[in-house]
Amino acid sequence: MENEIIKIEGFDISCYGVNTLVVGSGAAALNAAVSLHSFGQKDLIIATSQWGGGTSNNAGSDKQTYYKLSLSGEKPDSVLEMAQDLFNGKCMHGDIALCEAQGSVLAFMNLVRLGVPFPYDKYGAFAGYKTDHDPRSRATSAGPYTSKKMFEALAREVKKQKIRILNHHQIISLITDRNRSRVTGALAINTRIKDPKNAFVLFNAENIILGTGGPAGIYETSVYPLSQNGSIGIAFKAGATGQNLTESQFGIASVKFRWNLSGSYQQAIPRYFSTDKKGNDAREFLNEYFPDIKTLTKAIFLKGYQWPFDPKKITGYGSSLIDLLVFREITDKGRNVYLDYTKNPSFGNSVTFTLKKLDSEVSKYLSNSGALKNSPLERLLALNAPAFSLYKEHGIDLSSEPLQIAVCAQHNNGGLKANIWWESDLRHLFPVGEVNGSHGVCRPGGSALNSGQVGSYRAAKYISKLYNQQPTDTKVFMQEAKEQIASELALAKKWLTSGTSGRNRKYSFEIKKRMSEAGGIIRDLKKVTAASSAAGVMLKHINDNIGAGSVKELAESYLLTDNCLTHYIYLDAIKTYLEKGGRSRGSYLVIKGENSRQAFKPDLCRYDRDIENDILEIGIRNGKIFRKLVNVRELPKQDLWFEKVWKDYMEDNYIGC
Ligand SMILES: Cc1cc2nc3c(=O)[nH]c(=O)nc-3n(C[C@H](O)[C@H](O)[C@H](O)COP(=O)(O)OP(=O)(O)OC[C@H]3O[C@@H](n4cnc5c(N)ncnc54)[C@H](O)[C@@H]3O)c2cc1C
Repeated sequence: MENEIIKIEGFDISCYGVNTLVVGSGAAALNAAVSLHSFGQKDLIIATSQWGGGTSNNAGSDKQTYYKLSLSGEKPDSVLEMAQDLFNGKCMHGDIALCEAQGSVLAFMNLVRLGVPFPYDKYGAFAGYKTDHDPRSRATSAGPYTSKKMFEALAREVKKQKIRILNHHQIISLITDRNRSRVTGALAINTRIKDPKNAFVLFNAENIILGTGGPAGIYETSVYPLSQNGSIGIAFKAGATGQNLTESQFGIASVKFRWNLSGSYQQAIPRYFSTDKKGNDAREFLNEYFPDIKTLTKAIFLKGYQWPFDPKKITGYGSSLIDLLVFREITDKGRNVYLDYTKNPSFGNSVTFTLKKLDSEVSKYLSNSGALKNSPLERLLALNAPAFSLYKEHGIDLSSEPLQIAVCAQHNNGGLKANIWWESDLRHLFPVGEVNGSHGVCRPGGSALNSGQVGSYRAAKYISKLYNQQPTDTKVFMQEAKEQIASELALAKKWLTSGTSGRNRKYSFEIKKRMSEAGGIIRDLKKVTAASSAAGVMLKHINDNIGAGSVKELAESYLLTDNCLTHYIYLDAIKTYLEKGGRSRGSYLVIKGENSRQAFKPDLCRYDRDIENDILEIGIRNGKIFRKLVNVRELPKQDLWFEKVWKDYMEDNYIGC
């Protein structure tokens, strides 16, 4: 791992040669680094824009879920059943589903070994519970901060193994060979350096593990933590393909302090109300859409374990009717919406809330949990006191103030396409964690964290077996890389010459607004087409219209162009889905025009059209968007005859696609 200075275009660039560059420091990236190190590959560097930033270390819910094979109790479970359940989410390749199911125990036990406090009983049984899209009880949790505890445990291990960390290094570009068939390196900015001439850092890397997380920076209404942006655009720009980009998840979350309001936050049955922008004219706006208080309180309660918005759960006064009404109250009527834990819901002047009026499923659950209490606050405290304290720790007292909410973007099931070793079609690039689009339309809650751990382990295994070479000689690397580096540096020069520009903020605001309006829970072809063409125009001109007055602003400008390209491709994917007749599915509702009846009676996807049944791949080739529909690969048939598996294992024949 050398570090030499290379001069290009007047910039003095530090250059590292390394076998593997791990980008990011979320749970997936750190597990990749730790695994690779444990397989004997010590020549690796973690470069991260912010150590401790990102979703894993900063997001959660009332009981953040980790999905794994059942490991307790009398009900049998099997790898194939778990794989089938992942596969049933639609538009997920069967071989990937099998890997995620097969690898779940190993990944989970690794976290247990590293000290993540997943609860077990005196016999060592890791009890489970049911999460959304989960026919069994495979979910577990280490509390509201599961992914944070995963980050902490893996970070301890990284430090223990003395893996080199370059903090405040934002990767701005992936370098490829001339044919764009593989990555060969990356260019970063060290945001702690003051002089732009010395701020660039180059990596000549045999492999890149990309753990940059979900596309948080493209949404305005979002529960992704503020420290997360995502950088999938650098991979698109380098030529990697994306898939299932249409499939984001949305749900109700608090907006001042960004946090998911699932589980006990809804099971406590808070009062929903809205006000005008000045805080006047308070109204319990849900009432006019529900027939009685029993139906309303049941829908609120069910939102607890049916958290993501789901168009299948709107009719029949389902729990997703609430998301829809909250969304319309904010977007169409321009009002603010709140949850109130200090008062029970009321239903007109004459009907008051009483515990006796609750649906039997609701009262049974509350009674079993010792939470059949008089106010939402008392119920919340009885169900989950830490859920109350969590807000207190962030300066919000639920016992005295209402909580402002919105229907927020939370996760992207899609992302970069990769094979069963998590290698993208741009070879030697391994997207792991949320930037990898392994999931399809629906996924069991908690499977994102499982996928991040399984995928990063598999990527590390593959690299340690087949891609363990030294990086290319710097001179050879530079021959191919120089032009690409020069074009990135030319942008830096241009932006620095323009200096600080108010347009940066304006563009960022526009991108987020466009995505939240056209790519959120309600999707209309006309609106998406207009949004997509506006995104295309912005993409054409953005480089000429933004500027930077410092290294920090330079880094922000690169991120802005990344977000611009990202939102352009995401909107194109959504447009393509709608143009080809795709209907409501996953976490969004497809409507035509402003006819509100369609929203309440959605035309649901039946997976009988190619666009619904196949996986939509999308990317950039020769400066233009390409789109392709790909058949879903079925679950593979395995030959598990022990002697055969053993022989293949001993000869490393199992490493391959
Ligand atoms: C509120 C909320 C609740 C959730 N609840 C659940 C749940 O219950 N169960 C579940 O399975 N999933 C859940 N998820 C999703 C899950 O938490 C994330 O998908 C997962 O944590 C992502 O981990 P990651 O390692 O891929 O990325 P992250 O943890 O987001 O890390 C990304 C890292 O990349 C770095 N980075 C980004 N760009 C660059 C760049 N260009 N250069 C260098 N570094 C860069 C960032 O600084 C960060 O360190 C939830 C998400 C949210 C927002």
